[in-house]
Amino acid sequence: MTGAAIISLDCEGRWGVADHLTPETASGLTDARLRMAYRDLIRLLADVQIHATFAFVGLFTRPASRETTELVRERAAVLPYLTRAAAGLTDAEEGWIGDWALDMAGEQGHEIAFHGTTHVPWPDLSREQARWEMEQVWPEHRQTMVFPRNQIAHVDVLEEFGCKAFRGAREYPTRAQSLLSEFDCRVPSQQMPGQAEATPVEIPSGVFINWRSGLRKLVPPQITRLRARNLLNHAAKTGGVAHFWLHPENVATAPATMTNVSAIVEEIVRFRDAGQIRVETQLSMLGG
Ligand SMILES: [Zn+2]
Repeated sequence: MTGAAIISLDCEGRWGVADHLTPETASGLTDARLRMAYRDLIRLLADVQIHATFAFVGLFTRPASRETTELVRERAAVLPYLTRAAAGLTDAEEGWIGDWALDMAGEQGHEIAFHGTTHVPWPDLSREQARWEMEQVWPEHRQTMVFPRNQIAHVDVLEEFGCKAFRGAREYPTRAQSLLSEFDCRVPSQQMPGQAEATPVEIPSGVFINWRSGLRKLVPPQITRLRARNLLNHAAKTGGVAHFWLHPENVATAPATMTNVSAIVEEIVRFRDAGQIRVETQLSMLGG
């Protein structure tokens, strides 16, 4: 039996933290740090010939323009989440524009997926606002989705716009429990839903690649590696899916996070080269 491994990356610059951007976080999300993080991740994947799912915030992928700034100002009037982004674009701050990141990922043949147009969590959007988000990006850039903050809503809108799948969400009641879960080395892999399930397909949620920041620094990298190895082993034995996800922004703000990404990629490659795991993207996982 072979299992599957997926790596998905939530790509968002400052949009992911637009509603609580502190000076400290902003200092980690400069253009230079973001470019280094995307470059290092894309190089690592290219070295071992792995394609991943890069789920982009639509507005992050647009080149700077007066029209985009105006558009965000207009949206901010109804969605307060965007107030800080509108000010940042107006002042031509770094970290809001990542059209170069879309180019870097696209050139390497990675799947380009959707992480919302604005990164406003979807439960906070009306159905019409969710439809607007879908309309703002090319259809080929929203064939699969990662919901902002993993908050699932308006799934029928995905279907209406031909979006075939989304990453599921693993819920932890508290941040402490989420942190403690990083020490759990017995996380089982998950099965894809059966063919009879409705579209869009809920892709197994998988696990976060530990961000080496704050209290999360307490999780030893050896534990993160062992956890990934056990998860891959379980997927290989049961035909399950081992899904690993991260924000490139986690590498920008805490470069030591690359140690964890490298270790997990090494483990995936070991299982792949032994014929026990095939590497998929969210889109290829659907079988064409
Ligand atoms: Zn996000």
